[in-house]
Amino acid sequence: MLCKDFLDSQIIALRKISSDISSLDLRMLLAHVLGVESSEVYFLKSELTDTQIKQFNVLLQKRINHCPTDKIIGHKGFYKYEFIVNENVLSPRPDTEIMVEETSSIIARENIDNILEFGVGSGCIILSLLADNPNLTATGIDISNEALAVSRANAASLGVTQRVKFINASWFDSDIEAKINERYNLIISNPPYIPSAEIETLDEEVKCFDPKIALDGGNDGLRDYRQIAKLSARLLNDGGFLIFEIGEMQKDDVINIAAEQKLSLVDVLHDLSGTERCIILKK
Ligand code: GLN
Repeated sequence: MLCKDFLDSQIIALRKISSDISSLDLRMLLAHVLGVESSEVYFLKSELTDTQIKQFNVLLQKRINHCPTDKIIGHKGFYKYEFIVNENVLSPRPDTEIMVEETSSIIARENIDNILEFGVGSGCIILSLLADNPNLTATGIDISNEALAVSRANAASLGVTQRVKFINASWFDSDIEAKINERYNLIISNPPYIPSAEIETLDEEVKCFDPKIALDGGNDGLRDYRQIAKLSARLLNDGGFLIFEIGEMQKDDVINIAAEQKLSLVDVLHDLSGTERCIILKK
């Protein structure tokens, strides 16, 4: 059967069992089996082999069991770039792209040459900023060595390894400032911000396949904002920016936490569904 006909029949069959799995998911899984770009699948003239169909069915079963497509195929497009992902990192979210886009223009406009990120995960934020801005250098901190391995691989594939330094540490370590030992004009973070008790209510794609450590922001979801704001107030030069991704309804609390550290609000950005998703603060 031709790829196109196979895919069309799979999409119709899928509609009967799941509304969570999109036709793009199916196209990406088939493209992964065939070793082509997902945009090519519809134009391939070759017939699918039985082995390819079996391989596709194995991947589809994983998706039906709620594994997100990016974690099945091992990569995800985010902002302008492609990132390796696995079970050790939070899947890059389209909702985070607005923060990267705006931060990249601040870096260019203000001639910022050195930045820090708390919690790099796959590296999708810090490495996108480095890839966009050829004169930028950066430090990324993450408690997970496994996540840093993914970040390092992504730095290599984007050709920015020479401009990024990774530190394997927690921002709650008592000697964290000594480990960082630099000052910055911009600090960025998408910290864990889901209140612990809400983790169980999240979609299975998130609660079973994103690392809990990247999601759980303590009892009120604000634990990591408090610590990062406190550290940033000390690590930022005067006039430096602190840029946070925030969860739903957290804007006022995070603005208050920042104000206690004498960091004032510059802007609030909305994600693709109109939710307040990012705040820009200044020292
Ligand atoms: N945006 C993610 C979600 O809601 C959470 C990421 C985070 O805690 N930083 O699934």
